[in-house]
Amino acid sequence: MLDSKEMLDSKEIKELLINISNMYIEKEDELNDYDSVVGDGDHGVTMARGAKATKVKLESMLEGTCSSYFKAYSMTLVSTLGGAIGPLFGSIFLELAKACKDKESIGLEEISLGISNGAIKISSLGGAKVGDKTMIDSIYPAATSLMESFDSRITLKEALKFALEACETGVKSTIPLLAKKGRSKYLEEKSIGHQDAGATSFYYLLKEVKEYVEGRDIDENKKIH
Ligand code: ADP
Ligand code: MG
Repeated sequence: MLDSKEMLDSKEIKELLINISNMYIEKEDELNDYDSVVGDGDHGVTMARGAKATKVKLESMLEGTCSSYFKAYSMTLVSTLGGAIGPLFGSIFLELAKACKDKESIGLEEISLGISNGAIKISSLGGAKVGDKTMIDSIYPAATSLMESFDSRITLKEALKFALEACETGVKSTIPLLAKKGRSKYLEEKSIGHQDAGATSFYYLLKEVKEYVEGRDIDENKKIH
């Protein structure tokens, strides 16, 4: 059994998911801006719309498991957003739900497995590979880093720090790329020189997870002293 500091229970997963929703509501304008240079300028509105719906759904769930919270998040994104982005982004949460099925609390094993399978699912649904200037460019490096961290048995906090660094490098790697998938592909060379909106969205999601896990440590310290 892992140390409780390494695990998140269902109450914490619910709280973390609500934080993620609040973050997307807050980042609406910024994510629209990234999408307006490269795409059609609606990514922030879309994510904020999904976030508002997921927040209402989560708050209505009084007794949930880690898996049911992730699943509800995914289903709400798919039904609210529709289009391609709903199922693409929803895959991350659906795979996390599968990775923590029947578990009372989850740690690096479930998070790394869920995000890795989410990346594979997004690639198979949308056909994008690393280098096509999509969210895949930030999810893949983060997933690889998390899997390596799980293999080397480092702490969840350290693993998230390394994964976020890899993810940030991935987001920056989209700047010089030519978009090949989604609407931004029609802009062709205009897409060069701007970071991808979906890749940025996933970066902010992972940043929320990292900050949540770090914040729990601070709360622990408060209890001790
Ligand atoms: P839309 O492209 O329908 O306007 P959004 O603006 O909400 O949807 O999302 C755009 C983001 O979706 C892009 O920045 C990119 O990261 C991601 N995306 C688009 N197509 C794909 C795909 N085939 N695979 C993975 N991600 C994709
Ligand atoms: Mg768009």
